[in-house]
Amino acid sequence: MFHTPLCPKDCEIRHHDVITSLQALTPRFSSAMNAAIFSPSRVTRGNNKDDFKKQVHKLLATGWKKDKNVPENSKDFQLPLLHLASMFGKYEAVDWLLNEENFDAALRSSSSNETALHLVVRHLYKALLSESTRLENMSISAKVSNFEKVVSLLIVKEVSLFWAKDGLNKETPFHILAKHLLAANSAEADSGIEDQCLAFYSKSFNMILKLLLAEEDGRLSRKDIMQALSIRNGDGDTPLHIVAKATKHGYQVLKFLVKSLGSSDLLKLKNEKSLTVLNIVNECYPGHEKDLIVEEEGRKQLDPADFPGSKCCKILFIISGLIQTY
Ligand SMILES: [Zn+2]
Repeated sequence: MFHTPLCPKDCEIRHHDVITSLQALTPRFSSAMNAAIFSPSRVTRGNNKDDFKKQVHKLLATGWKKDKNVPENSKDFQLPLLHLASMFGKYEAVDWLLNEENFDAALRSSSSNETALHLVVRHLYKALLSESTRLENMSISAKVSNFEKVVSLLIVKEVSLFWAKDGLNKETPFHILAKHLLAANSAEADSGIEDQCLAFYSKSFNMILKLLLAEEDGRLSRKDIMQALSIRNGDGDTPLHIVAKATKHGYQVLKFLVKSLGSSDLLKLKNEKSLTVLNIVNECYPGHEKDLIVEEEGRKQLDPADFPGSKCCKILFIISGLIQTY
């Protein structure tokens, strides 16, 4: 294969050997997912991983540095190698680069100041969609699983990627994913047909939230998690304000989040126009904002120090509980 799934149809560019050898890496999937397409004999044929490693070592031998862009003819792919491997979903390559070759997970692209995770959320779905690869019949769960593998590898190395802002519109990976979810939701609303793209983005959004929440009590506190989701982009919106516009699918993501956190506090955050996330749900999916006010039960588990002013709410809650008891 001489082109990438992200190339335009009439692409005539001669891509760098590292990029073409990267394309030849095919993800391995369990037999439960796409057994017929990804049978072991087809996947292991040709030992593509060794060829990719050989090309990377060849490039390094020319004096190329790991934090520099791959010297590629197409401007679109003049990116660090870790970014390219990540956005094409080649998790075996990502694993090898991070864990054996010590590439820096926090590295930014020179043109847009984006991390590898920004590019995963921006391009991965399209990269897995292409008809020019053997991935066209990959199920949505297999695609989401591919997304999870790449994100997990990056995050394990560098947890701050969750809240890293890009140099384009000060967006975190959550903003970009939220915009894709919203666009897919609007496309479905226009066509009236249930769309795979929408399924991918709603499942992926839940997946990345799960990965973020899983960091609680490990490397991140509840406060860190809340802050990661409270960042405003250049338009003054948090990712949740964008998600809230995606009608039913946005609502489902928000429902999952408040249920997991046991708190609706994040939905009371205001954007630059002084609208809360709940205001937007009310506007875009009327009547459902009430369902997002979670039972305050979950608050009992929280450390009051994480919420400025919440100690008072907690005491009030206990008192109201006592009043109800008697
Ligand atoms: Zn091409």
